[in-house]
Amino acid sequence: MKNCVFPGSFDPITKGHVDLVDRAYPLFDKIYVAVGENSVKNSLFSLEKRIGWLKEVFKDYDKVEVGKFVGLTVNYCHDVGAQYLLRGLRNASDFDYEKTISQLNNIIGENVETVFLISRPEYSHFSSTIVREIIKGKGNYDQFIPNNIKINYE
Ligand code: ADP
Repeated sequence: MKNCVFPGSFDPITKGHVDLVDRAYPLFDKIYVAVGENSVKNSLFSLEKRIGWLKEVFKDYDKVEVGKFVGLTVNYCHDVGAQYLLRGLRNASDFDYEKTISQLNNIIGENVETVFLISRPEYSHFSSTIVREIIKGKGNYDQFIPNNIKINYE
């Protein structure tokens, strides 16, 4: 079985995240889309909301399981029996950041390999950070998020 973990903050999920799962789908037997409870990042949306959106978006994806984890991503990979991590690359800063993390994960994770997919051009400017700013500024963010979810932000 080839299993992978797609870890992220998903604060909130965007069409860029969904596109990555769609494109990785044929490559794996199982994809664990998992929210990391990050000790450094403060999220705008609660863990429950983020998990709820993921469950809604991927409800018809037989090979996707939605989860969450605290601590090291590689430990979660071992817990669920995943040999691969999935990450997206949008630009050079993603690359610089991901390169080091991937090398470290390969060492501390005892051969957990990271598989990178380059973002499709139409999504390379999509990020949760930008979507959060639009939401906070009360702008229209519909085009950035999956069609089947509703985000309520007061
Ligand atoms: P993190 O806080 O771990 O970076 P994110 O939810 O921001 O979590 O992103 C999770 C993963 O999804 C990262 O690998 C990121 O590069 C990727 N990703 C986010 N947006 C896009 C996009 N528009 N296209 C491709 N990959 C993306």
